[in-house]
Amino acid sequence: MKPMIVILKDGTDSNQGKNQVVSNISACLAVSEAIRTTLGPRGMDKLIVDNRGTATISNDGATILKLLEIIHPAARTLVDIAKSQDAEVGDGTTSVVLITAEILKNAKSFIEDGMHPTIIIRAIRKATALTIKKIKEVAVTIKSDDDKEQRVLLEKCARTTLSSKLIARQREFFAKMVVDAVLMLDELLPLNMIGVKKVTGGSLEESRLVSGVAFKKTFSYAGFEMQQKKYTNPKIAILNIELELKAERDNAEVRLDNVAEYQKIVDAEWSILYDKLDTLHKAGVTVVLSKLPIGDVATQYFADRDMFCAGRVQEDDLKRTQKACGGAIITTVENLNNQSQQVLGTCEIFEEIQIGSERYNCFTGCPKAKTATMILRGGAEQFIDEVERSLHDAIMIVRRAVKNDSIVAGGGAIEMALSRHLREYSRTIPGKEQLILAAYAKAFEVIPRQLCENAGFDATNILNKLRQKHAENNIWFGVDIMHEDVTDNFIAAVWEPAVVKINAITAASEAACLILSVDETIKVPKSAAETSNAAKAMNMG
Ligand code: ADP
Ligand code: MG
Repeated sequence: MKPMIVILKDGTDSNQGKNQVVSNISACLAVSEAIRTTLGPRGMDKLIVDNRGTATISNDGATILKLLEIIHPAARTLVDIAKSQDAEVGDGTTSVVLITAEILKNAKSFIEDGMHPTIIIRAIRKATALTIKKIKEVAVTIKSDDDKEQRVLLEKCARTTLSSKLIARQREFFAKMVVDAVLMLDELLPLNMIGVKKVTGGSLEESRLVSGVAFKKTFSYAGFEMQQKKYTNPKIAILNIELELKAERDNAEVRLDNVAEYQKIVDAEWSILYDKLDTLHKAGVTVVLSKLPIGDVATQYFADRDMFCAGRVQEDDLKRTQKACGGAIITTVENLNNQSQQVLGTCEIFEEIQIGSERYNCFTGCPKAKTATMILRGGAEQFIDEVERSLHDAIMIVRRAVKNDSIVAGGGAIEMALSRHLREYSRTIPGKEQLILAAYAKAFEVIPRQLCENAGFDATNILNKLRQKHAENNIWFGVDIMHEDVTDNFIAAVWEPAVVKINAITAASEAACLILSVDETIKVPKSAAETSNAAKAMNMG
């Protein structure tokens, strides 16, 4: 009798071979099925309720996939590429998943026919390189020497991104706002220097852009209303010090046996606080911001001396203010005097403004860093959240376009052009590769087809028209969402930065290759010891 060789633990789940590849592909197709209806200007939104009951309405591929909590190991790859597309370029997250799924779907029949995955992978790699080369070849560079011209270009890109979102109707308004915000930043275009604040209520058009830092008025004590609410060239002190009376008592234990001593301690507390306040006042500070609370005595003190204060400011707001206005976060007032002005920040105008039912502290004309804050208005909370996500996509796209000003036409135009190019190329090569390249080429048609389907058009009809136009070398013809027809999307100004497409196609191909190359999944069970430990821990809890 042959000895039995046991390698894997009892209960290990292992699947392998052709069937495993096919089943992985099916899982990916199921994922893409879940989000395909969200693509494009006529795409639908998804409402997802998580296990805590929080509802999210979104149109963004990455957001939806993140919330779906997919557990299938191969299908998780799709979630990862959507996330990476989101991080890398910000837009095109639905497209990347759809293209991956379509490549896999077209490859599936080859696998079923017994073609080895390595051959398919090699062909896909080759096709990807060709595709990227083609995109770079056809992408149009718009000169950005002229500021006005660049603005127009950026606004068009932002508008295309926004046209597939919930706020498509207001895309003119928001495209302008996003471009304004991005152009306010410095060379490096740091994303975290654009703050987004949400105030529910009001209409979307009441949203506004502040060229500087803005944050909601913090909790304040009596006396606050007596403070001045507008300063030009204020001196701003950003503190990490508690300006409250009772604070000192908590730091020490004090034992007393008579009233006089108690009075001394109370006096000492007062004088400690007053010393701090006096130092701030003498240093010429006019606006005091603190991470920690500012009590009623301090508030009144500042009010009497024409100073403004805000306590319990959120940390990220405080950091952004510090970056924008200069100065440092002060943890002790000991060394603060007229000479040590570099620790104080400044800006052109500080004022408190009313937005809807909320009051905001605004710092504009900041000297150190360029920053901008968007204050969004709108009905429901979920709605504003989706607006924020949409604007994030648009901001990322505009940043991309500023850095790299080559663009292609969207609405399926670039995809059709690539498809045609690859199909023609495939005819020049012999062997199995020809088939695979043709299948890969066909995969790109998923974008225009899905755009049509989501808009309720006859996809076959439109695609035939598009193929005909592209055969005549009209490379920018794509779906005309308004008129159920095809049109030159370059003229129609449906523009997208070329990097979005390059990144999407590279990522999609990589993911497809990854999934095709996995022919075995092994699931190791939890060991008995671990399980019993977990059980014990649970009992103890
Ligand atoms: P993604 O998450 O991939 O960005 P979207 O839902 O934003 O998905 O849809 C993007 C697609 O919609 C792109 O292919 C883009 O070219 C297309 N698109 C956007 N605006 C228009 C328009 N006005 N007409 C036709 N197609 C458009
Ligand atoms: Mg988009």
